[in-house]
Amino acid sequence: MAQRILLRPIGFTATTFVRTRPFSTVIDAPISPASQQTPPQVPGSSSVFEDAVQAMTPRTTWTKEQISEVYNKPLIDLTYAASSVHRRFHNPAAIQMCTLMNIKTGGCSEDCSYCAQSSRYNTGLKASKMVDVDSVLEAARVAKENGSSRFCMGAAWRDMRGRKTNLKNVKEMVKGVRALGMEACVTLGMIDAEQAKELKNAGLTAYNHNVDTSREHYPSVITTRSYDERLATINNVHNAGINVCTGGILGLGEKPQDHVGLIHTVATLPAHPESFPVNALVPIKGTPLGETKSIAFDAILRTIATARLVLPTTIIRLAAGRNTMREEKQMMCFMAGANAVFTGEKMLTTACNGWEEDKAMFERWGLRPMESQETIGGQQELAQQLEIDTALSETKDAAPAAAIM
Ligand code: SF4
Repeated sequence: MAQRILLRPIGFTATTFVRTRPFSTVIDAPISPASQQTPPQVPGSSSVFEDAVQAMTPRTTWTKEQISEVYNKPLIDLTYAASSVHRRFHNPAAIQMCTLMNIKTGGCSEDCSYCAQSSRYNTGLKASKMVDVDSVLEAARVAKENGSSRFCMGAAWRDMRGRKTNLKNVKEMVKGVRALGMEACVTLGMIDAEQAKELKNAGLTAYNHNVDTSREHYPSVITTRSYDERLATINNVHNAGINVCTGGILGLGEKPQDHVGLIHTVATLPAHPESFPVNALVPIKGTPLGETKSIAFDAILRTIATARLVLPTTIIRLAAGRNTMREEKQMMCFMAGANAVFTGEKMLTTACNGWEEDKAMFERWGLRPMESQETIGGQQELAQQLEIDTALSETKDAAPAAAIM
């Protein structure tokens, strides 16, 4: 799929064990001033940072060194630049409200060291069967009534192999959510090309499959599936014409260069993802990362601002961990380019900011829920509808001629 430019106006002004793994120190100190020095410029060449600030289109040719140059700018300059770029490509007042429902909790065979739903860790979470279609659609209706325009459904599966009945039910859920006029997103683990096509045909708007962190840090976090397996699923999703939602989790014991590596992975995909979720680790007791110290806020903000400059058209989604942020911190994230939140009763297994709380925050700061036609998924839908309308009117116009013949 070619890179897309948004059509919105530009310039809007079980048995468990815990293994020991070599986790590195969590970033809890600001980046040193020395690391914030911009490399000397070659006379006559323009700065990578300046180029990013002036960009009118996204590009997938980023190098890690270039992203690192952006990431290591003084935070005051980085966030200002990110805000400028955000206003060029998005309406800064519009925040997409999404609700995420766990449609199948726990019992997952993977060993993601942050996850309450892995059957390998004793987290006290009870595994459950898949929720029935009607209950999911009822939850989607409630989410819509409360202002959410996107409904995301997550299942704790490694992959979809041998899950024909489950896939059939998920497709029913997708169709039902779409019929409500909402965007539908699912996260079901790894899927193959055929499963991706089936989901596309059911009307799926987006598929979430996070790469979690940099390629280098990934083996410290997950050992049961590789980084390349994750990328293969993302590729299947992209090739099926489904919007890709892929991002990461900050605070997994990574280093600043792993934030750069994470952004570099998604920025050099064949097309930038439609959505880039930024999660801050919520430590879950019983998991290998259960006692991890929280990541410093400036590292979260720096990652969001860098992502905005590198992925100008992508929706940057403030995901898990938002409820631990004070309102002012959330606002700094919105100003630096974040433009989507998860809102509702729960986010998979962790707490979530509620709709009323978010509405009150939006009111105080002049924000508003993003309309579905303002998103890439919504614009695709409008374009498809336009094509259908045009085809219908052409058929109508052609009918008398055909009759004459
Ligand atoms: S993050 Fe997903 S794949 Fe990993 S253990 Fe949790 S549910 Fe399974």
